Amino acid sequence: MSLFQNATYLASAHHLHDLPPPGEPEVAFAGRSNAGKSSAINALANRTRLAFVSKTPGRTQQINFFQLTGGGLLVDLPGYGYAKVPEALRNHWEDTLSRFLQTRPSLCGLVLVMDARHPLTERDELMLGWFRPTGRPVHVLLTKADKLNRREQALTLEKVRARLAALGGLATVQLFSSPDRSGLEEAEEVITGWLVAAGARNKEAPSQRGKLGAKRLKRD
Ligand code: GDP
Repeated sequence: MSLFQNATYLASAHHLHDLPPPGEPEVAFAGRSNAGKSSAINALANRTRLAFVSKTPGRTQQINFFQLTGGGLLVDLPGYGYAKVPEALRNHWEDTLSRFLQTRPSLCGLVLVMDARHPLTERDELMLGWFRPTGRPVHVLLTKADKLNRREQALTLEKVRARLAALGGLATVQLFSSPDRSGLEEAEEVITGWLVAAGARNKEAPSQRGKLGAKRLKRD
């Protein structure tokens, strides 16, 4: 069974003080609006319901939490970079996202979704900058890879890899296409690796959250 299959909606938060208490290991998905984040989550979940939930009006601009059946949580962060968002709301989300990424203790990795045709926007790099001090890993999904030919794909991958290396931090990158369902296995492997490692770390240093995370996590 795939990692996100049968994931269930757990909670939403507009403010940091509304977040569910940190517990099991969490993997966050972030990206520019329209980059293909919902489609990627759906492809990984192998069904359409999760995206339906994240696209429900009112929940789009929320931090949405989904419980994974094997243990761990998927955190769908609000898309950024949408020009029509009023400045006050944009500032709210910049502040909320930066603090979430820097301080959420249960976060074990960040999946950063980028359109392969427009990777590493200024805001993508801001997200990387906020998360880097945590020392936790980032995996970049270059979505819409089906819109590029093989040569363009290879060039983009090389360019993004080089830029990520120059930025420092622990970042990996891959090509992804939701309609072609390509790149699913690679993404799943990375995310499962993070969740399993975080579960094992929690087991070694038991804490209130650790015990729960370690007990529930298993590889499918
Ligand atoms: P989000 O705003 O980041 O959640 O983006 P969505 O998942 O809603 O996708 C935005 C648009 O891009 C939609 O029209 C999708 O059908 C399309 N899209 C998403 N991923 C892909 C992909 O891998 N390939 C192609 N060709 N289109 C995609």
